[in-house]
Amino acid sequence: MPCRVCHSQKLEQFLDLGAQPHCDSLLRPEDLARREPFYPLQVCFCHDCTAVQISYTVPKETMFGEYLYVSGTTQTLRTHFKNSTDRLVQRLGLKAGDLVVDIGSNDGTWLACYEAHGLRALGVDGAQNLAAMANARGIETWARFFDAGVARDIIAQKGRAKLVTAAGVFFHLEELHSVTEGIAELIREGGVFCVQAISLAGMLQYTQFDQVYHEHLTYWTVHSLDRLFAQYGLEIFSTGMLPIHGGSMELLVAPRGSRPIEASVEKMRREEKELGCDRIETYRNFAVRVWQLEKEVMALLRRYAAAGKTVHAFGAPAKGGTFLNSFHITPELVQCAVEVNQLKIGKYIPGVRIPIVSEAATPEPDAYLLLAWNFLREFLPRKRDYIMRGGEFIVPIPKLTVVTKDNYAQFVA
Ligand SMILES: [Zn+2]
Repeated sequence: MPCRVCHSQKLEQFLDLGAQPHCDSLLRPEDLARREPFYPLQVCFCHDCTAVQISYTVPKETMFGEYLYVSGTTQTLRTHFKNSTDRLVQRLGLKAGDLVVDIGSNDGTWLACYEAHGLRALGVDGAQNLAAMANARGIETWARFFDAGVARDIIAQKGRAKLVTAAGVFFHLEELHSVTEGIAELIREGGVFCVQAISLAGMLQYTQFDQVYHEHLTYWTVHSLDRLFAQYGLEIFSTGMLPIHGGSMELLVAPRGSRPIEASVEKMRREEKELGCDRIETYRNFAVRVWQLEKEVMALLRRYAAAGKTVHAFGAPAKGGTFLNSFHITPELVQCAVEVNQLKIGKYIPGVRIPIVSEAATPEPDAYLLLAWNFLREFLPRKRDYIMRGGEFIVPIPKLTVVTKDNYAQFVA
């Protein structure tokens, strides 16, 4: 397979997480009789453009046709989108009537924030169920996978966009080049593209290997994204970090030469360089740390099991599928995963086949394993009483930690 960004053949695999099912294709009880499909989950480094990517592409219709991740479920995300909107509207001087297009708009949670500012909002999302949810709440959403053809249709019907956004989806994109071409067309007349993506630098720094799953085809740095954008006459003019999803970068992109390049761009490039994002050795070391973490996590879970303690996963996020399947954590060690998302309750995490149950209807275990470690600060206060009664939270990332009533205070400070 050639590099998705620069088409080079010089890809080197540095982390093999084995064959894994598509983590968001949760199993229904009737699916348990047959084996779910497994696909390779291997991560590679491109020696030419330094982009990091997985080697195998699960067809997007399999992954996103019916999508279970709903943005509006967590308060943290709703607040995040509200803040992003206010910041962008002010910074870019957006006015009532301007068109904003959100790619991978999910249930319309982000676009809904623009209503207060009088902007025209259009969502594009390939998941039929989510597009229907968004349309039902009055956010116009096209149930299509964004590409250059969709961009042309938008321009024909609504004109060019002042702002195009993509939050947590840019790494999903299979038709990377067609998507980027479409974005370039949409913002050609003074528009800006805002991409929020998990930071590869952060993944490396904090051993977030579970950000790797089949939906995330590419893992970006400013350096590798610039390579991509340059092919379509675009350039990054501003960078920043956001606390969402364990550390995301927000990049503002515009047609080349249309805006002054801010110092933040060079600063982030320098930080990436200092972390070694451009060197294969960094990734080989990352893989060593992943397997060290496996040893620690498995030893801990076996100790709990040997002591007869129950452990439930807290949440069943997509990355939890990678975490559990990579380390082969089965129901003997983690009996179930508790959730509040109704679309997930009653189903099973594929591969390890851990049942997903209602958090409210399930007695609390001796310990929770926090798979959605990026929401630690939202979840802990909610479970304060449980922890004060002696309950525990096992937090595996960025490093294995057990939160108890004795050290609770330092995690919510
Ligand atoms: Zn490349």
